[in-house]
Amino acid sequence: MANGQWGLLAEWSTVWAKRPFDHSTTRPTGIIPRVLDSLKNFTAGLTRTRQAVFGRIASIVGASEITDDTWDELEATLIQADMGVAVAGELIARLKKHVRDEGVTQEHDLRAFLRQELIAQLKAAPLPRLLGDPAVLLMVGVNGSGKTTTTAKLAKLLHDRDGVTPILAATDTFRAAAIDQLKEWGHRLNVEVIAGQPNGDPGAVVYDAIAAARARRADLVIVDTAGRLHTKFNLMEELKKVRGVAAKASAGAPHAVLLVLDSTTGQNGLAQAKAFTEAVGVTGLVLTKLDGSAKGGVAFAIHRDLGLPIVYAGLGEKLDDLVPFDPEAFVDGLLE
Ligand code: GDP
Repeated sequence: MANGQWGLLAEWSTVWAKRPFDHSTTRPTGIIPRVLDSLKNFTAGLTRTRQAVFGRIASIVGASEITDDTWDELEATLIQADMGVAVAGELIARLKKHVRDEGVTQEHDLRAFLRQELIAQLKAAPLPRLLGDPAVLLMVGVNGSGKTTTTAKLAKLLHDRDGVTPILAATDTFRAAAIDQLKEWGHRLNVEVIAGQPNGDPGAVVYDAIAAARARRADLVIVDTAGRLHTKFNLMEELKKVRGVAAKASAGAPHAVLLVLDSTTGQNGLAQAKAFTEAVGVTGLVLTKLDGSAKGGVAFAIHRDLGLPIVYAGLGEKLDDLVPFDPEAFVDGLLE
């Protein structure tokens, strides 16, 4: 099993251990089916990137003779998928060396080597431990990235899989629609949503949500933050304030800060990611809309440039379309 999944299980098992009530009936079961599901999800979700890019690799390298043109074509294809010039260049160099050193002529040998190299690029760092009273998870990112949808998906995933009771905090008080959207998800999920008044203080919402979680003995507060504010406010300053309130209200909070990035925008998201990382200390990434993108290669560029683990992947618009990011299943989804 991939490190990421073990990491999450370990992470949440500390929460179970802490809670005074018995979670044993809700502990996750059926680990092997989940791994297979994960591969199935990635295979379906990554169809566009696979067809546009990685599926072509086999035919490019499967040609009877590998020439300089073959390598150029391959590199251009990888760059088109937004893998990034540096990652693509290094990968091509390693493939060339492998072909030269090993005298590889068989396509499946090269494919196996490529698979191994791609997985190695995505090795996940250890995940932060979500242990708190309650644990607080900040979701950040620009509007439209899929932040609110991912907040709802994550609440469902952590509840269904790990038996976690979440509370959602709608802190985008500048957009009434954003509050309504989260309330609607909460209603569908039967999860409590704490929201403020329009144009109210987002920090107060976080404070109230943490207090509500304590009162209801909920394990986790997932905070859906604003992605763009009224012009007189600075988004990053506002997010820092929200972070500060969380830190005061619950020891060790925020226990994780997840940056939601839209993979269809490819590498344009990188500058954005750096700004959020500097302002609020992002601890992990969620790459959304991988199903609608031919730029799934961006996962490699992002991982390399930011050095942050990709924790979850969004593979569709439905509530169940969020999966823990598993480098092996991801790469197999690109290549299969
Ligand atoms: P926010 O402004 O960042 O909160 O973004 P929303 O959560 O409102 O999402 C914007 C749009 O992206 C909505 O139409 C979502 O259904 C869609 N969306 C979010 N995640 C995914 C995903 O993984 N795949 C696809 N295809 N659409 C997604």
